[in-house]
Amino acid sequence: MPWFSYHGGHSGEFCRHAKGDLEAVVQRAIAAGFSHYGLSEHIARYRSEDLFPEERDLTPDDLITTFEAYVVRARQLQTKYEDQIDLLVGFETERLPPGDWATRMRETRARLRIDYIVGSVHDVEGLVIDYKPEHTASVAERVGGVEELHVRYFDALTELVSELRPEVVGHIDLIRKFEGENPVFGARAWRHLEGTLEAVRSVGGVLDVNAATRRRGLGPVYPLPAILERARAMGIGVTLGDDGHGAHDVGVGLDACMAAISAAGYREVSYLAHDRSGRVELRRAPIEDVRPR
Ligand SMILES: [Zn+2]
Ligand SMILES: [Zn+2]
Repeated sequence: MPWFSYHGGHSGEFCRHAKGDLEAVVQRAIAAGFSHYGLSEHIARYRSEDLFPEERDLTPDDLITTFEAYVVRARQLQTKYEDQIDLLVGFETERLPPGDWATRMRETRARLRIDYIVGSVHDVEGLVIDYKPEHTASVAERVGGVEELHVRYFDALTELVSELRPEVVGHIDLIRKFEGENPVFGARAWRHLEGTLEAVRSVGGVLDVNAATRRRGLGPVYPLPAILERARAMGIGVTLGDDGHGAHDVGVGLDACMAAISAAGYREVSYLAHDRSGRVELRRAPIEDVRPR
């Protein structure tokens, strides 16, 4: 009975907007019946203008040091708990800094021998779009409206997916985070979203069905039902992500993710696991077998 999540494992130890120690996250994942659990701490941000308000006393170099300490700690925990859970050590990408994000992400992945990555975009034209509704609204105004914001976000994600070939594509429709219970993508945005889905299919990635919006009362799980249905028709796999930011979030909301996956007509859910030789492979489990052990 596999039970898994690949987007999350953020902890207060290595991320200022999360809570608690990484080990508490791992212990909670074991207690909650996870067989496989992916840790995908945020990659460092490399420009001072990309630091979050709670990071104002830090420098980009501090974020790099913290990120590298996260990988060391995650590897220790991977070994310490290997008899109880298959931990995967990954990171969640950024499309920052605008000029050389791809080089930096690839270099970090290779140098630290990262198990997998969650390919996410949290900015449009270098401006963060998932922080506060009023910020996102001002970015929309700057680029020429909400539909243009959607279009640019999907194009940015398409490029990131093609460049980095992430195993998991994070919250594909994050751009509607502040649009409530019934967000709508216009025809033009939808065409660009189809381009993103094509990119996901061509690199063999799977979609993160992500509990964060539901847990925060912001709307349906990512991706929206119509996107999930389209992805299924295209043969794109899905996996689970609690997007947890502390032990209290571990596994919370994954029931809503499973319900969305079923409703879209999926029969199987994809998951990542270490094989006997220590390599990470993509597996699929029948939907009825996916539950806590
Ligand atoms: Zn976060
Ligand atoms: Zn994210």
